[in-house]
Amino acid sequence: MSDRIYLSPPDMSTAERDSLMAAFDSGWVAPVGPHLKAFEDGLCAVTGAAHAVALSSGTAALHLALLEAGVGEGDRVYCSTLTFVASVNAIRYCGAEPVLIDCEARSWQMCPNLLADLLKRDAAAGQLPKAIQVVDVYGQCADYAAIEALCLEYGVTIIEDASEALGATHGQRGAGSIGKVAALSFNGNKLITTSGGGALLTNEASIAEHARYLSTQARKPVREYLHEDTGYNYRMSNLLAGLGQGQLSRLEGMIKRRREIFSRYAGELQAEGVSFMPEASWGQCNRWLTCLTLQDAGCTSLELIEALERENIEARPVWRPMHRQPVCEKYERILNGVSDRLYETGLCLPSGSVMSDEQQSRVIAVAKRCLQM
Ligand SMILES: *Cc1c(COP(=O)(O)O)cnc(C)c1O
Repeated sequence: MSDRIYLSPPDMSTAERDSLMAAFDSGWVAPVGPHLKAFEDGLCAVTGAAHAVALSSGTAALHLALLEAGVGEGDRVYCSTLTFVASVNAIRYCGAEPVLIDCEARSWQMCPNLLADLLKRDAAAGQLPKAIQVVDVYGQCADYAAIEALCLEYGVTIIEDASEALGATHGQRGAGSIGKVAALSFNGNKLITTSGGGALLTNEASIAEHARYLSTQARKPVREYLHEDTGYNYRMSNLLAGLGQGQLSRLEGMIKRRREIFSRYAGELQAEGVSFMPEASWGQCNRWLTCLTLQDAGCTSLELIEALERENIEARPVWRPMHRQPVCEKYERILNGVSDRLYETGLCLPSGSVMSDEQQSRVIAVAKRCLQM
């Protein structure tokens, strides 16, 4: 059997080994140190956000982002339904309740029309949400021109879950710099990884400072241990920030490679009933994963996933929307059928920046056979 081809494995080189060892050799193994600051500065440079706080996971970053937006017990938070469960878990950690909003077909991102109707309804009922958590799903920014105009009109805060979208853009702005507070993830399967990690981004110095405080057990700057707030142990370690510096130095090339992989799939798998996630007119997608739907095509998405698995190739369905998760059973949902269709007909192909041309040829050959091309 040939080597397994994974969906999105870590992409490591000597640059990461060197930067990790530099952090180690500097003696700043824990907790904080100069590599953490340098990694955060690098994240600001890439995204355009003014401040970054490196944390232990993307989920931790979302949790703190929600707390910084004032989300608490009993609040309602609008959230994209097409996402990974971490987005709604973070809302639940705050004791708040997600309200799930469907996506639009042209970008796969939160649908501004559904959002407009919902804001109008909730404003009339005097129950506007505390915040809107917009997910830049599969590495593409949502339609922020429309969403920001609505949020301005109703005075609602935007939290951006840019976990999958590092390096993606909306106009001149980078993903993660758009919401009042945003989260990035450096989990093992994301664009870049610190073997587990995340970051909170914001343009407001006071938010960054307060998030940093909450991430280190809310310790007051005095000698004796003094705590006036409930804090968390969420800070990234300086060693892992060293690893992150190496990854960040290669980000541009890694995005280029992911986009190349996408273009080749899209070029070679043109057939009746096959549609790839469209790139929206407002920005550039990082093509974290190549996603496509098969509707009245030569095979179903499940048949293709199974055919690939038989050849030792990992492929996955599109996210099962949150409104179809038992854990979200009791939450309100505003649906238009798009995320259901994407889930039922969609899949993600191996897209890692380490994948070789030969490996991609193997994936394409299996897909062509299954699609009867
Ligand atoms: C990966 C991911 C997260 C969580 O990030 P972790 O670093 O795994 O905690 C949150 N939201 C979305 C949309 C993600 O894809």
